[in-house]
Amino acid sequence: MNVKLTPNSRLVLEKRYLKKDQDKLLETPEDMFYRVAQVVAGVEERYGKRNTEIQSLTKAFYNLMANLEFMPNSPTLMNAGRDLGQLSACFVLPVEDSMEGIFDAIKNAAIIHKSGGGTGFSFSRLRPKNSTVRSTGGVASGPVSFMKVFNAATEAVKQGGTRRGANLGLLRVDHPDILEFIACKENNHEMTNFNISVGITREFMRALQEDKPYHLREPHTGSVVAQLSASEVFDKMMEHAWLNGEPGVVFLDAMNDGNPTPNVGEIETCNPCGEQPLLPNEACNLGSINLKLMVTKEGDGVGIDWERLRRVTRLAVHFLDNVIDANQYPLPDIEKTTKANRKIGLGVMGFADMLTILKLSYASEEAVQVAKKIMSFIQEEARKESERLAAERGVFPNYVGSIYEGVRKLRNATLTTIAPTGTISMICGVSSGVEPLFAVAYTKTVMDGTSLIEVNPTFENLAKDYGFYSEELMQNVVKQGTVRGLNDVPNWVQKIFITAQEIDPEWHVKIQAAFQTFTDNAVSKTINFPHTATKEEIAKAYLLAYELGCKGLTVYRDGSREEQVVTTGTTK
Ligand code: ADP
Repeated sequence: MNVKLTPNSRLVLEKRYLKKDQDKLLETPEDMFYRVAQVVAGVEERYGKRNTEIQSLTKAFYNLMANLEFMPNSPTLMNAGRDLGQLSACFVLPVEDSMEGIFDAIKNAAIIHKSGGGTGFSFSRLRPKNSTVRSTGGVASGPVSFMKVFNAATEAVKQGGTRRGANLGLLRVDHPDILEFIACKENNHEMTNFNISVGITREFMRALQEDKPYHLREPHTGSVVAQLSASEVFDKMMEHAWLNGEPGVVFLDAMNDGNPTPNVGEIETCNPCGEQPLLPNEACNLGSINLKLMVTKEGDGVGIDWERLRRVTRLAVHFLDNVIDANQYPLPDIEKTTKANRKIGLGVMGFADMLTILKLSYASEEAVQVAKKIMSFIQEEARKESERLAAERGVFPNYVGSIYEGVRKLRNATLTTIAPTGTISMICGVSSGVEPLFAVAYTKTVMDGTSLIEVNPTFENLAKDYGFYSEELMQNVVKQGTVRGLNDVPNWVQKIFITAQEIDPEWHVKIQAAFQTFTDNAVSKTINFPHTATKEEIAKAYLLAYELGCKGLTVYRDGSREEQVVTTGTTK
């Protein structure tokens, strides 16, 4: 079967995913999907499956990817059946408060980055700056100074030619060094390989609401060492988020409310893009369903193809559960934790594209309802498949004592995650994750600086169907990036093709919250603000996210960082 890929998608695959000998390609995209399908279906042998069954599963997995209905995360596509064999995108590593602990984490992160995985750390266990170091009698330099070492190590691995490493650094809001941490990315050129997030506690939120001080605690003993005004700290966070989008926040209590195995450990942090809370030394493999394809004719219009969505969800869960067995783990501790919980993260991409096909605006209550309907359906179907697998292969080893004990026998401690799908959405040629359209036409800088122009195909088709297509109009759309205010474009079409920066932040947050309600793990989403947004408007979004039960929040004010990956309109 010949896979229908856009030129852009082929380019991405050729540059980073397909087997190569120097510059010579050794496989086609079809070969790649077959390589992956074979490895992932191949593990069934250990469950006593016969050859014919394995072959038919290989074919089913192949079709799932070749039809672009579902795509596993990049490391699975890149590494399955090859030397590295590391298939997960997300890792969390512990950082213990000792020289050995810190440098172990740096070494382990380097090994993970080499294989295309991202690492999340909590630096909250590290003793604060200026506390005593017993062995030397000196003073400790604090979490931020060590983060710089992590950053430098990541930079060095990046130069080795793999995908650039990504880190999340988190510090609890009650750590004594919190103010230094909040400001640590003030200079855009430092900590370039880190996203930073403040770990917010309920105690802090209560203090903020009551405009009271809250306690800073010594990380080892938990004893109170100082106090700060919650609103002043929150204000500092907002000031910096306004300045360049960081720090983001992680609502630690919401994450731990969703922890399926609290008996095994506490969730201290998550992976780089925020969608995957994990225990220390745990990994998770992700995969996403292409929603753009999950539509079908319904009467005179278009509706959601529930049967196809059910089939794809079931097969995708089976696929991701197999990945846990097919995976070659970078460290024995990670293998142990990961196989004990068997977490997977099935999510979606192409949500905004689906909305345009359904002729709905992202900034609408209808879109919120579609988000809820789709994600609750996926979550339930995913759990049913996990139950089926559990009946066949057993529940996850940490099942006893988990939140599912006696409730539901599952093969996987978590099933759903909304990933950013930065690259796999490009491979499928659809909008990323649950983000709105970034632009109706845009120039995208791919990896090594190649520029590509694309007009949204649904828009182009609609313009032709409704008779307002013209070359001149398309040129204008490319120039402007959006369709707002273009006289030739009917008002109802302008509403459907609303882009990220035109959407009121409140709708961004509401869509994130709608998906979160039916997602076991978390949702990766950026709340876009226009350049003119104020600090107060950003603060409002954070508070709304907390109120609506989101597990974290990332904001971005247009133009606030010098270097943007995607640019609307034509670039000079
Ligand atoms: P993809 O589309 O390539 O599968 P996503 O954009 O969905 O990946 O990101 C999923 C996760 O993969 C991220 O949260 C992060 O943990 C990891 N990741 C993404 N990009 C990188 C990178 N450049 N280096 C290391 N890890 C990454």
